[in-house]
Amino acid sequence: MRYQKKRTVKPFSTEEQTGKRKFPLIQKCIIEASLSNVWDDARREWFLVDIIDDAADKFTDRCQICNHVGLKKNYEIQNSNTQAKYLVGSNCIRKFIILKGTMNLEDSSILFKLETEKIEAYKLIQNLLPAILSIPTSQQLVKFHRACHAVLGRPKLAQDIEPAQWREFVVRIFGQPNPPKNNLDRVKNALFNPRSVPQVRVKIDSEREQIAVGSWSGITKTRQTRAESTLVRSDAYKIDGGSEN
Ligand SMILES: [Zn+2]
Repeated sequence: MRYQKKRTVKPFSTEEQTGKRKFPLIQKCIIEASLSNVWDDARREWFLVDIIDDAADKFTDRCQICNHVGLKKNYEIQNSNTQAKYLVGSNCIRKFIILKGTMNLEDSSILFKLETEKIEAYKLIQNLLPAILSIPTSQQLVKFHRACHAVLGRPKLAQDIEPAQWREFVVRIFGQPNPPKNNLDRVKNALFNPRSVPQVRVKIDSEREQIAVGSWSGITKTRQTRAESTLVRSDAYKIDGGSEN
């Protein structure tokens, strides 16, 4: 009976949840770094800027607003008025922060999930960019293609992307709005016409380590032009369309 009753209880609203218990440390930290002195306004001034993994120098395993230790990742939040930043755990964001642009904790949680996926996708895109700008493996090309779709919403054509969205994409992956045209063209090809992108074919060796097949494997990065022309003549050269997924 008790179990049944528990299941039908509606979740607490934002106000009830924080009203049930006081969280003096979290409230103090957030209010101190916000423009408003009122908790329910102060916690609405923040947005997510970055995800920091434990290999980064600035990583801390202690949440800076609740002191919980044992974090595996930091979520960096920034105040839109004071520009103050905190490295916190995901739980604190889900429970206490109403991200800017949302009305309540529930919507904020949805935005938090979308934003974290976007940040992770951009990190992957940035990691893969050097390979895309030389000759990627087919696996790198597929990963790049998927990650771009994750941030751009699966566009079929360049025209499907809003200009502002495209500008943000270019700035975030190149660090500037006007990268060299050939670099931009390579990214566009990987995105819209992956079948046209030359790729290095790889096999898995006995130690399950990926190695490039063929004599050009050692020169793909340092001698790109020669590598490309060798590839084009080689039987092993393969145009392998990135699968849509
Ligand atoms: Zn915390």
